[in-house]
Amino acid sequence: MSSASKTMHVPYIDLGIQYRNLKSEIDPLIEKILASGSYILGEHGAALEKEYAAYQGVAHAVGVASGTDAIELALRAAGIGAGDEVIVPSFTFVATAEAVMHVGARPVFVDIEPDTYGIDPAQTETAVTSKTKAIIPVHLYGHPCTMEPILSLAKSKGLQVIEDCAQGTGASIGNKKVGSLGRLGAFSFFPTKNLGACGDAGIIVTDRADDAEKLRWLRNHGSPKKYQHEILGRNSRLDEIQAAILRVKLKHLDRWNQERIRVAGWYDKAFKALPPAVLKKLTLPSTRSGLSHVYHIYALLTAQRDALWEHLKTKTIDAAVHYPEPLHRQPVMRSIVSAGLSLPVSERVAREVLSLPIYPEMTEAMVLYVVEAIHDYYRAGN
Ligand SMILES: *Cc1c(COP(=O)(O)O)cnc(C)c1O
Repeated sequence: MSSASKTMHVPYIDLGIQYRNLKSEIDPLIEKILASGSYILGEHGAALEKEYAAYQGVAHAVGVASGTDAIELALRAAGIGAGDEVIVPSFTFVATAEAVMHVGARPVFVDIEPDTYGIDPAQTETAVTSKTKAIIPVHLYGHPCTMEPILSLAKSKGLQVIEDCAQGTGASIGNKKVGSLGRLGAFSFFPTKNLGACGDAGIIVTDRADDAEKLRWLRNHGSPKKYQHEILGRNSRLDEIQAAILRVKLKHLDRWNQERIRVAGWYDKAFKALPPAVLKKLTLPSTRSGLSHVYHIYALLTAQRDALWEHLKTKTIDAAVHYPEPLHRQPVMRSIVSAGLSLPVSERVAREVLSLPIYPEMTEAMVLYVVEAIHDYYRAGN
């Protein structure tokens, strides 16, 4: 490779390819649904729930309007509400903590582990108080959290575990899929997630029949049947068009995840071939043994993050930052976070993390172009 390699646009993700490959399956389904007049809580929604529960190896799945709603309704189903504390990692998408606040509970932020980017089990244990009711591990970037100590802590203290699986669709620990380890697992089908709808959608999985029933009521105005409202619910339903598209895509999820893993392998290999002086400046993603990382995000750490990001823009490479500020530093959380709270791993990762382009259809040539652009940046003496 030479620094004179031709310019290539590398998008962060390309959802158009996926759609074009499935167009002949998806378009007739959409037309059929439009003609049927059954747009909400119909056959596709029910079938998706069955198929997703089977895929996850759990008894029940309940479709909802988004991943954010999935977390919030899971908390409600588990009986979490006003006066309760819920332990969450500070380094996650805001929805994890937002959902806790929307049920009237208080998120208690703890740090993440530096290698998995998941919630730190030791700090989680320290954060437990008499008000703690639940823990929300987030399988960030597609790497499963260190669940065993979290699950045993929860068991010994009588806490509920609700997994935020928005980025971990298809990831597993041993032979168990993430989402099936806690009481409830919340998934997002936001278009850019590993399994994405063509709009907003989400799903909750659980082995508990009582939770599943409550979730079905909660998402539909607290109704066990039409115009009978048992509990305070909401409108958070997954529509038929999204459900039908997700059923088509679910069949390809494992292959797409394998392709993401292959792309990550190309990155790893190309980075490891760089001169040691360059490689030293980068922290590559790692996977703990026994876990499957599904690379929703390929996250690199470097002290020169912002300058490198700018450099990649000049090479028409679309990188991204997930996330530039940990939640305990966000203005919206100011009233619930003590002023001096310091979570050093979250703060450092927020400063140093850069998400490189990754999607199933990405080519090796694109990966090599990205790595060469990064090499260029450091070769220039940075
Ligand atoms: C995407 C995401 C959510 C929210 O999902 P939506 O479907 O966008 O509401 C929650 N948590 C994490 C970690 C996410 O990445």
